[in-house]
Amino acid sequence: MDILGIDIGGSGIKGAPVNAESGRLLAERIRIETPAPATPRATLQAVCQLVARFSWKGPIGIGFPSIISRQIITTAANLDDGWIGRNGNEAFSQATGCPVKVINDADAAGLGEVHFGAGRGRLGSLLVLTVGTGIGTALFHRGHLFPNTEFGHIEMHGMAAEKFASAAVRKIENLSWEVWAGRFNEYLQRVERLVVPDTIIIGGGISRKFTKFAPYLDVTADLLPARLLNHAGIIGAAFAYTLP
Ligand code: BGC
Repeated sequence: MDILGIDIGGSGIKGAPVNAESGRLLAERIRIETPAPATPRATLQAVCQLVARFSWKGPIGIGFPSIISRQIITTAANLDDGWIGRNGNEAFSQATGCPVKVINDADAAGLGEVHFGAGRGRLGSLLVLTVGTGIGTALFHRGHLFPNTEFGHIEMHGMAAEKFASAAVRKIENLSWEVWAGRFNEYLQRVERLVVPDTIIIGGGISRKFTKFAPYLDVTADLLPARLLNHAGIIGAAFAYTLP
């Protein structure tokens, strides 16, 4: 089944048609800027633009950077508050005229990595982190997702962990890899104590720079970079559409 996968992030909206059985992209991915502020109206318009660029008329899977509980968007950490309380599937289906399924963006990236990437065949407990504007988390056991874990919001030094150790914070505060990795390591060790994953996969844009920070990390879990790199969210969102 071919599905348009869309990954909505705090800074970019990325999409490509995906074959949901193989996890392969069927065309080059397109990226447009996330509107600022990312109000529902502006974000829906941007997604419609992306859908039009592919002349897409079929099913769409969307990874959205919020808690999605029984289809309802209940948080908006890096988007406009106007999203809170809206039904994600309905909002995007109405705007695009296509059938749409929306899940949390980190859960989407996690599904991508577990089914087609670095997590393939790893049956123990596994945590996928997407490190970008925020920190997203997806927790799996024996390949099954426990959705909406939101470990990017555990408190560290009086703030949400993602305000202390995300990739955006590294850039904003102009931190060296070593200093940022020290923060990120402290975060990983906290999360390890909470859920003791056998494997941790680091995704998001920063996964391309894995060799720059991995030497500073000290965790018990097997630590791997995402294999689908920045495409995990697109591929996983498309795959999620096919799930019951
Ligand atoms: C949001 C999560 C999201 C993560 C990555 C966090 O601020 O609360 O839902 O997965 O950012 O985008």
